[in-house]
Amino acid sequence: MGWKSLDDMELRDKRVLVRVDINVPMENDRVSDTTRIERIVPTVRDILAKGGKPMLMAHFGRPKGKVNLDMSLRQVLPALRDALACSVAFIETLDGAEKMPVEAQGADVILLENIRFYPGEEKNDPAFAARIAALGDVYCNDAFSAAHRAHASTEGVAHHLPSCAGRLMQAELSALEAALSTPERPVGAVVGGAKVSSKIALLENLVNRLDLLVIGGGMANTFLAAQGARLGASLSEPDFFEVARDIMTQAEVAGCRVLLPVDGLVAREFKEGADYAVVQLGADTVLDPDQMVLDAGPDSIALVQSAFDGLKTLIWNGPMGAFEIAPFDTATVAAARHAAARTREAALISVAGGGDTVSALNQAGAAEDFTYISTAGGAFLEWMEGKTLPGVAALGG
Ligand code: AMP
Repeated sequence: MGWKSLDDMELRDKRVLVRVDINVPMENDRVSDTTRIERIVPTVRDILAKGGKPMLMAHFGRPKGKVNLDMSLRQVLPALRDALACSVAFIETLDGAEKMPVEAQGADVILLENIRFYPGEEKNDPAFAARIAALGDVYCNDAFSAAHRAHASTEGVAHHLPSCAGRLMQAELSALEAALSTPERPVGAVVGGAKVSSKIALLENLVNRLDLLVIGGGMANTFLAAQGARLGASLSEPDFFEVARDIMTQAEVAGCRVLLPVDGLVAREFKEGADYAVVQLGADTVLDPDQMVLDAGPDSIALVQSAFDGLKTLIWNGPMGAFEIAPFDTATVAAARHAAARTREAALISVAGGGDTVSALNQAGAAEDFTYISTAGGAFLEWMEGKTLPGVAALGG
Protein backbone atom coordinates (compact mmCIF):
# COMPACT_ATOMS: atom_id res chain seq x y z
CA MET A 1 0.00 0.00 0.00
CA GLY A 2 1.82 3.09 -1.21
CA TRP A 3 -1.18 5.34 -1.48
CA LYS A 4 -2.43 7.97 0.95
CA SER A 5 -5.97 8.35 2.21
CA LEU A 6 -7.91 11.46 3.22
CA ASP A 7 -6.64 10.86 6.77
CA ASP A 8 -3.12 11.71 5.62
CA MET A 9 -4.04 15.03 4.01
CA GLU A 10 -4.24 18.56 5.37
CA LEU A 11 -7.36 19.98 3.71
CA ARG A 12 -8.26 23.15 5.62
CA ASP A 13 -9.22 25.85 3.09
CA LYS A 14 -7.89 23.67 0.28
CA ARG A 15 -9.59 23.21 -3.08
CA VAL A 16 -9.89 19.46 -3.41
CA LEU A 17 -10.28 18.12 -6.93
CA VAL A 18 -12.19 14.84 -6.56
CA ARG A 19 -12.50 12.29 -9.38
CA VAL A 20 -15.74 10.41 -8.82
CA ASP A 21 -17.73 7.83 -10.76
CA ILE A 22 -21.31 9.04 -11.02
CA ASN A 23 -21.93 7.47 -14.40
CA VAL A 24 -25.43 6.45 -13.28
CA PRO A 25 -28.22 4.93 -15.39
CA MET A 26 -31.06 7.28 -16.43
CA GLU A 27 -34.71 6.60 -17.19
CA ASN A 28 -37.07 9.35 -18.38
CA ASP A 29 -34.59 12.09 -17.43
CA ARG A 30 -34.21 10.76 -13.91
CA VAL A 31 -31.46 8.77 -12.26
CA SER A 32 -32.86 5.24 -12.03
CA ASP A 33 -30.19 3.82 -9.72
CA THR A 34 -28.41 6.18 -7.34
CA THR A 35 -25.96 3.60 -5.91
CA ARG A 36 -22.88 5.24 -7.43
CA ILE A 37 -23.92 8.65 -6.16
CA GLU A 38 -24.54 7.35 -2.65
CA ARG A 39 -21.14 5.70 -2.59
CA ILE A 40 -19.26 9.00 -2.96
CA VAL A 41 -21.03 10.63 -0.03
CA PRO A 42 -18.48 9.60 2.67
CA THR A 43 -15.64 11.12 0.67
CA VAL A 44 -17.39 14.43 0.07
CA ARG A 45 -18.59 14.57 3.67
CA ASP A 46 -15.09 13.91 5.05
CA ILE A 47 -13.49 16.54 2.81
CA LEU A 48 -16.05 19.10 4.01
CA ALA A 49 -15.50 18.03 7.63
CA LYS A 50 -11.77 18.61 7.21
CA GLY A 51 -12.42 22.15 5.96
CA GLY A 52 -11.78 21.42 2.29
CA LYS A 53 -13.81 22.53 -0.71
CA PRO A 54 -14.67 19.61 -2.99
CA MET A 55 -14.78 20.12 -6.75
CA LEU A 56 -16.14 16.96 -8.38
CA MET A 57 -14.94 15.78 -11.76
CA ALA A 58 -16.57 12.86 -13.54
CA HIS A 59 -17.47 11.39 -16.89
CA PHE A 60 -20.98 10.55 -18.05
CA GLY A 61 -21.46 8.25 -21.04
CA ARG A 62 -19.10 8.33 -23.99
CA PRO A 63 -19.21 11.77 -25.64
CA LYS A 64 -15.79 11.08 -27.20
CA GLY A 65 -14.21 14.47 -26.65
CA LYS A 66 -17.16 16.55 -27.89
CA VAL A 67 -19.82 18.56 -26.11
CA ASN A 68 -23.03 16.52 -26.19
CA LEU A 69 -25.72 17.84 -23.89
CA ASP A 70 -27.49 14.47 -23.88
CA MET A 71 -24.58 13.44 -21.71
CA SER A 72 -24.52 16.51 -19.51
CA LEU A 73 -23.88 15.90 -15.84
CA ARG A 74 -26.47 18.59 -15.13
CA GLN A 75 -28.97 15.72 -15.28
CA VAL A 76 -27.58 14.11 -12.14
CA LEU A 77 -27.51 17.34 -10.15
CA PRO A 78 -30.86 16.83 -8.35
CA ALA A 79 -29.91 13.31 -7.26
CA LEU A 80 -26.47 14.52 -6.18
CA ARG A 81 -27.94 17.35 -4.11
CA ASP A 82 -30.34 14.91 -2.43
CA ALA A 83 -27.60 12.44 -1.60
CA LEU A 84 -25.11 15.02 -0.33
CA ALA A 85 -27.74 17.14 1.45
CA CYS A 86 -25.76 20.31 0.77
CA SER A 87 -25.53 23.02 -1.88
CA VAL A 88 -23.93 21.95 -5.16
CA ALA A 89 -23.01 24.45 -7.88
CA PHE A 90 -22.70 23.23 -11.46
CA ILE A 91 -20.00 24.68 -13.69
CA GLU A 92 -20.36 24.09 -17.41
CA THR A 93 -16.86 24.75 -18.70
CA LEU A 94 -13.27 24.78 -17.54
CA ASP A 95 -13.16 28.49 -18.45
CA GLY A 96 -16.03 28.93 -16.03
CA ALA A 97 -14.23 26.95 -13.34
CA GLU A 98 -11.08 29.02 -13.82
CA LYS A 99 -13.06 32.25 -13.33
CA MET A 100 -15.11 30.72 -10.51
CA PRO A 101 -18.34 32.74 -10.47
CA VAL A 102 -19.42 34.26 -7.15
CA GLU A 103 -22.51 32.06 -6.82
CA ALA A 104 -20.34 28.96 -7.12
CA GLN A 105 -17.91 30.27 -4.51
CA GLY A 106 -20.65 30.14 -1.92
CA ALA A 107 -21.68 26.55 -2.64
CA ASP A 108 -20.48 23.69 -0.44
CA VAL A 109 -19.58 21.50 -3.41
CA ILE A 110 -18.85 22.18 -7.07
CA LEU A 111 -19.65 19.76 -9.87
CA LEU A 112 -17.82 20.20 -13.17
CA GLU A 113 -19.46 19.30 -16.46
CA ASN A 114 -18.68 15.91 -18.06
CA ILE A 115 -14.89 15.85 -18.28
CA ARG A 116 -15.05 13.71 -21.42
CA PHE A 117 -16.43 16.68 -23.36
CA TYR A 118 -12.74 17.58 -23.67
CA PRO A 119 -10.57 15.54 -26.07
CA GLY A 120 -7.58 15.90 -23.73
CA GLU A 121 -9.28 13.76 -21.08
CA GLU A 122 -9.16 10.33 -22.71
CA LYS A 123 -5.88 11.16 -24.48
CA ASN A 124 -4.38 11.96 -21.09
CA ASP A 125 -2.97 15.08 -22.70
CA PRO A 126 -0.35 16.53 -20.31
CA ALA A 127 -1.39 20.14 -20.99
CA PHE A 128 -5.01 19.25 -20.25
CA ALA A 129 -4.04 17.41 -17.06
CA ALA A 130 -2.07 20.48 -15.95
CA ARG A 131 -5.05 22.68 -16.73
CA ILE A 132 -7.43 20.70 -14.56
CA ALA A 133 -4.80 20.33 -11.84
CA ALA A 134 -4.61 24.13 -11.63
CA LEU A 135 -8.22 24.10 -10.38
CA GLY A 136 -7.23 22.37 -7.13
CA ASP A 137 -4.66 22.27 -4.35
CA VAL A 138 -5.13 18.57 -3.62
CA TYR A 139 -6.29 15.65 -5.83
CA CYS A 140 -8.47 12.90 -4.44
CA ASN A 141 -9.35 9.91 -6.62
CA ASP A 142 -12.51 8.12 -5.53
CA ALA A 143 -13.23 6.41 -8.85
CA PHE A 144 -11.71 2.94 -8.57
CA SER A 145 -14.01 1.81 -11.37
CA ALA A 146 -12.18 4.18 -13.75
CA ALA A 147 -8.71 3.43 -12.36
CA HIS A 148 -7.84 0.98 -15.15
CA ARG A 149 -7.86 3.89 -17.58
CA ALA A 150 -4.98 6.34 -17.81
CA HIS A 151 -7.00 9.50 -18.46
CA ALA A 152 -6.19 13.06 -17.46
CA SER A 153 -8.67 13.08 -14.58
CA THR A 154 -7.73 9.59 -13.33
CA GLU A 155 -3.97 9.61 -13.87
CA GLY A 156 -2.40 12.71 -15.45
CA VAL A 157 -3.64 15.13 -12.82
CA ALA A 158 -2.06 13.10 -10.00
CA HIS A 159 1.39 14.08 -11.25
CA HIS A 160 0.70 17.72 -10.49
CA LEU A 161 -0.89 17.71 -7.05
CA PRO A 162 -0.54 16.03 -3.66
CA SER A 163 -2.82 13.03 -4.19
CA CYS A 164 -4.84 10.59 -2.14
CA ALA A 165 -7.55 7.93 -2.41
CA GLY A 166 -11.12 8.80 -1.48
CA ARG A 167 -13.08 6.59 0.90
CA LEU A 168 -14.57 4.34 -1.77
CA MET A 169 -11.22 3.88 -3.50
CA GLN A 170 -9.65 3.24 -0.10
CA ALA A 171 -12.24 0.56 0.72
CA GLU A 172 -11.80 -1.11 -2.70
CA LEU A 173 -8.02 -1.09 -2.51
CA SER A 174 -7.92 -2.34 1.06
CA ALA A 175 -10.29 -5.20 0.24
CA LEU A 176 -8.51 -6.14 -2.96
CA GLU A 177 -5.04 -5.97 -1.41
CA ALA A 178 -6.26 -8.13 1.47
CA ALA A 179 -7.65 -10.69 -0.97
CA LEU A 180 -4.89 -10.99 -3.53
CA SER A 181 -1.72 -9.07 -2.62
CA THR A 182 -1.39 -10.20 0.99
CA PRO A 183 -4.15 -12.76 1.51
CA GLU A 184 -4.64 -14.99 4.47
CA ARG A 185 -3.95 -18.46 3.09
CA PRO A 186 -5.19 -20.77 1.84
CA VAL A 187 -6.69 -18.45 -0.77
CA GLY A 188 -8.98 -19.59 -3.56
CA ALA A 189 -11.15 -18.19 -6.31
CA VAL A 190 -14.30 -19.05 -8.16
CA VAL A 191 -14.08 -18.03 -11.79
CA GLY A 192 -17.24 -18.65 -13.72
CA GLY A 193 -19.10 -17.06 -16.58
CA ALA A 194 -19.42 -17.72 -20.23
CA LYS A 195 -16.07 -17.82 -21.90
CA VAL A 196 -12.44 -18.71 -21.35
CA SER A 197 -11.45 -16.34 -24.15
CA SER A 198 -12.40 -13.25 -22.10
CA LYS A 199 -10.60 -14.44 -18.97
CA ILE A 200 -7.29 -15.96 -20.09
CA ALA A 201 -5.06 -13.38 -18.42
CA LEU A 202 -7.13 -13.59 -15.27
CA LEU A 203 -6.95 -17.40 -15.08
CA GLU A 204 -3.22 -17.38 -15.73
CA ASN A 205 -2.57 -14.86 -13.01
CA LEU A 206 -4.77 -16.67 -10.51
CA VAL A 207 -3.33 -20.17 -10.95
CA ASN A 208 0.08 -18.71 -10.26
CA ARG A 209 -0.99 -17.00 -7.05
CA LEU A 210 -3.74 -19.08 -5.48
CA ASP A 211 -4.04 -22.38 -3.68
CA LEU A 212 -7.40 -23.29 -5.26
CA LEU A 213 -9.27 -22.34 -8.42
CA VAL A 214 -12.88 -23.38 -8.95
CA ILE A 215 -13.82 -23.11 -12.60
CA GLY A 216 -17.53 -22.89 -13.29
CA GLY A 217 -20.07 -21.86 -15.89
CA GLY A 218 -19.67 -22.13 -19.63
CA MET A 219 -15.91 -21.86 -19.34
CA ALA A 220 -15.78 -25.13 -17.40
CA ASN A 221 -17.22 -26.79 -20.53
CA THR A 222 -14.20 -25.62 -22.51
CA PHE A 223 -11.85 -27.10 -19.89
CA LEU A 224 -13.72 -30.43 -19.87
CA ALA A 225 -13.95 -30.57 -23.65
CA ALA A 226 -10.22 -29.80 -23.85
CA GLN A 227 -9.69 -33.03 -21.88
CA GLY A 228 -11.78 -35.01 -24.33
CA ALA A 229 -15.40 -34.63 -23.17
CA ARG A 230 -17.96 -34.25 -25.97
CA LEU A 231 -20.53 -31.89 -24.60
CA GLY A 232 -23.12 -31.69 -27.40
CA ALA A 233 -24.55 -28.18 -27.84
CA SER A 234 -22.95 -26.79 -24.65
CA LEU A 235 -21.29 -23.41 -24.74
CA SER A 236 -17.66 -24.26 -25.44
CA GLU A 237 -14.74 -22.68 -27.27
CA PRO A 238 -12.70 -25.23 -29.29
CA ASP A 239 -10.23 -22.50 -30.29
CA PHE A 240 -9.26 -22.27 -26.62
CA PHE A 241 -8.75 -25.94 -25.79
CA GLU A 242 -5.01 -25.45 -26.02
CA VAL A 243 -5.19 -22.44 -23.68
CA ALA A 244 -7.29 -24.43 -21.23
CA ARG A 245 -4.78 -27.30 -21.21
CA ASP A 246 -1.96 -24.82 -20.75
CA ILE A 247 -3.70 -23.22 -17.77
CA MET A 248 -4.12 -26.68 -16.19
CA THR A 249 -0.39 -27.32 -16.63
CA GLN A 250 0.52 -23.93 -15.16
CA ALA A 251 -1.71 -24.68 -12.19
CA GLU A 252 -0.04 -28.02 -11.61
CA VAL A 253 3.43 -26.47 -11.74
CA ALA A 254 2.39 -23.67 -9.39
CA GLY A 255 0.66 -26.03 -6.94
CA CYS A 256 -2.83 -24.59 -7.44
CA ARG A 257 -5.61 -27.15 -7.15
CA VAL A 258 -8.17 -26.74 -9.95
CA LEU A 259 -11.72 -27.90 -9.35
CA LEU A 260 -13.79 -28.60 -12.44
CA PRO A 261 -17.42 -29.77 -12.25
CA VAL A 262 -17.77 -33.53 -11.80
CA ASP A 263 -21.46 -33.42 -12.71
CA GLY A 264 -23.84 -31.00 -14.37
CA LEU A 265 -27.45 -30.13 -15.05
CA VAL A 266 -27.99 -31.00 -18.68
CA ALA A 267 -30.94 -29.74 -20.74
CA ARG A 268 -32.01 -29.69 -24.36
CA GLU A 269 -33.47 -26.18 -24.22
CA PHE A 270 -32.00 -22.94 -22.94
CA LYS A 271 -35.05 -21.68 -21.12
CA GLU A 272 -36.55 -21.18 -17.68
CA GLY A 273 -37.78 -24.43 -16.15
CA ALA A 274 -36.43 -26.61 -18.99
CA ASP A 275 -36.40 -30.35 -18.29
CA TYR A 276 -32.96 -31.44 -17.21
CA ALA A 277 -30.99 -34.46 -16.06
CA VAL A 278 -28.03 -34.70 -13.71
CA VAL A 279 -25.11 -36.13 -15.69
CA GLN A 280 -21.65 -37.13 -14.43
CA LEU A 281 -18.95 -35.12 -16.21
CA GLY A 282 -15.39 -36.10 -17.02
CA ALA A 283 -12.95 -36.57 -19.86
CA ASP A 284 -14.94 -39.46 -21.33
CA THR A 285 -18.43 -37.87 -21.15
CA VAL A 286 -20.36 -37.97 -24.42
CA LEU A 287 -23.61 -35.97 -24.59
CA ASP A 288 -26.22 -36.03 -27.34
CA PRO A 289 -25.69 -33.32 -30.00
CA ASP A 290 -28.61 -31.24 -28.66
CA GLN A 291 -27.70 -31.51 -24.95
CA MET A 292 -26.22 -28.59 -23.03
CA VAL A 293 -24.54 -28.38 -19.63
CA LEU A 294 -26.21 -25.35 -18.06
CA ASP A 295 -25.15 -25.64 -14.42
CA ALA A 296 -22.94 -27.61 -12.06
CA GLY A 297 -24.60 -30.61 -10.40
CA PRO A 298 -25.04 -31.67 -6.75
CA ASP A 299 -21.72 -33.54 -6.39
CA SER A 300 -19.86 -30.53 -7.77
CA ILE A 301 -21.69 -28.25 -5.35
CA ALA A 302 -20.70 -30.49 -2.42
CA LEU A 303 -17.07 -30.52 -3.59
CA VAL A 304 -16.97 -26.75 -3.95
CA GLN A 305 -18.57 -26.20 -0.56
CA SER A 306 -16.11 -28.47 1.20
CA ALA A 307 -13.22 -26.82 -0.67
CA PHE A 308 -14.46 -23.46 0.65
CA ASP A 309 -14.26 -24.90 4.18
CA GLY A 310 -10.50 -25.21 3.77
CA LEU A 311 -10.03 -21.59 2.68
CA LYS A 312 -9.36 -18.43 4.64
CA THR A 313 -9.80 -16.11 1.65
CA LEU A 314 -12.06 -16.39 -1.39
CA ILE A 315 -12.28 -14.24 -4.50
CA TRP A 316 -15.32 -14.65 -6.73
CA ASN A 317 -15.92 -13.63 -10.32
CA GLY A 318 -18.64 -14.95 -12.56
CA PRO A 319 -21.60 -17.32 -12.13
CA MET A 320 -21.23 -21.13 -11.98
CA GLY A 321 -24.05 -21.68 -14.46
CA ALA A 322 -26.69 -19.95 -16.56
CA PHE A 323 -27.93 -18.30 -13.37
CA GLU A 324 -30.51 -16.04 -15.02
CA ILE A 325 -32.78 -19.02 -15.75
CA ALA A 326 -33.97 -21.29 -12.94
CA PRO A 327 -33.10 -23.98 -12.03
CA PHE A 328 -29.68 -23.34 -13.59
CA ASP A 329 -28.88 -20.86 -10.84
CA THR A 330 -28.71 -23.73 -8.31
CA ALA A 331 -24.92 -24.14 -8.09
CA THR A 332 -24.24 -20.40 -8.01
CA VAL A 333 -26.81 -19.87 -5.28
CA ALA A 334 -25.71 -22.85 -3.17
CA ALA A 335 -22.01 -22.05 -3.38
CA ALA A 336 -22.55 -18.33 -2.78
CA ARG A 337 -24.71 -19.01 0.27
CA HIS A 338 -22.08 -21.33 1.66
CA ALA A 339 -19.37 -18.68 1.21
CA ALA A 340 -21.68 -16.12 2.81
CA ALA A 341 -22.30 -18.38 5.83
CA ARG A 342 -18.56 -19.01 6.30
CA THR A 343 -17.98 -15.27 6.11
CA ARG A 344 -20.69 -14.64 8.69
CA GLU A 345 -18.95 -17.10 11.01
CA ALA A 346 -15.74 -15.05 10.51
CA ALA A 347 -14.08 -18.15 9.01
CA LEU A 348 -13.63 -16.61 5.56
CA ILE A 349 -12.72 -13.30 3.91
CA SER A 350 -14.80 -13.13 0.73
CA VAL A 351 -14.39 -10.57 -2.03
CA ALA A 352 -16.44 -10.58 -5.20
CA GLY A 353 -16.80 -8.40 -8.25
CA GLY A 354 -16.95 -7.96 -11.98
CA GLY A 355 -19.72 -8.19 -14.54
CA ASP A 356 -22.65 -10.37 -13.61
CA THR A 357 -21.19 -11.41 -10.29
CA VAL A 358 -22.90 -8.75 -8.24
CA SER A 359 -26.34 -9.59 -9.59
CA ALA A 360 -25.71 -13.33 -9.19
CA LEU A 361 -24.74 -12.86 -5.53
CA ASN A 362 -27.67 -10.54 -4.95
CA GLN A 363 -29.96 -13.14 -6.45
CA ALA A 364 -28.50 -15.71 -4.05
CA GLY A 365 -29.16 -13.34 -1.13
CA ALA A 366 -25.46 -13.72 -0.34
CA ALA A 367 -24.08 -10.31 -1.24
CA GLU A 368 -24.67 -8.69 2.13
CA ASP A 369 -22.62 -11.25 3.99
CA PHE A 370 -19.62 -11.09 1.68
CA THR A 371 -16.72 -9.16 3.18
CA TYR A 372 -16.57 -6.88 0.17
CA ILE A 373 -18.40 -6.59 -3.13
CA SER A 374 -16.70 -4.51 -5.74
CA THR A 375 -18.96 -2.74 -8.19
CA ALA A 376 -16.02 -1.76 -10.36
CA GLY A 377 -16.40 -4.15 -13.32
CA GLY A 378 -13.46 -3.68 -15.70
CA ALA A 379 -11.09 -2.34 -13.05
CA PHE A 380 -11.83 -5.33 -10.80
CA LEU A 381 -11.08 -7.75 -13.64
CA GLU A 382 -7.83 -6.00 -14.55
CA TRP A 383 -6.81 -6.10 -10.93
CA MET A 384 -7.55 -9.87 -10.90
CA GLU A 385 -5.37 -10.16 -13.98
CA GLY A 386 -2.53 -8.74 -11.90
CA LYS A 387 -2.28 -5.57 -13.96
CA THR A 388 -1.12 -2.32 -12.48
CA LEU A 389 -4.04 0.07 -12.59
CA PRO A 390 -2.75 3.44 -13.79
CA GLY A 391 -5.11 5.40 -11.55
CA VAL A 392 -3.84 3.52 -8.51
CA ALA A 393 -0.19 3.63 -9.55
CA ALA A 394 -0.45 7.42 -9.93
CA LEU A 395 -1.47 7.62 -6.28
CA GLY A 396 1.77 5.87 -5.40
CA GLY A 397 0.07 2.44 -4.97
P1 AMP B 1 -19.50 -13.54 -17.97
O1 AMP B 1 -20.06 -12.27 -18.53
O2 AMP B 1 -18.33 -14.08 -18.73
O3 AMP B 1 -19.27 -13.48 -16.47
O4 AMP B 1 -20.63 -14.65 -18.21
C1 AMP B 1 -21.87 -14.60 -17.58
C2 AMP B 1 -22.86 -15.34 -18.41
O5 AMP B 1 -22.47 -16.68 -18.59
C3 AMP B 1 -24.22 -15.37 -17.78
O6 AMP B 1 -25.10 -14.71 -18.63
C4 AMP B 1 -24.54 -16.87 -17.71
O7 AMP B 1 -25.87 -17.15 -18.06
C5 AMP B 1 -23.62 -17.46 -18.72
N1 AMP B 1 -23.35 -18.87 -18.43
C6 AMP B 1 -22.77 -19.37 -17.35
N2 AMP B 1 -22.71 -20.71 -17.43
C7 AMP B 1 -23.26 -21.07 -18.60
C8 AMP B 1 -23.49 -22.32 -19.25
N3 AMP B 1 -23.10 -23.48 -18.69
N4 AMP B 1 -24.07 -22.30 -20.44
C9 AMP B 1 -24.44 -21.14 -21.00
N5 AMP B 1 -24.26 -19.94 -20.45
C10 AMP B 1 -23.68 -19.90 -19.25
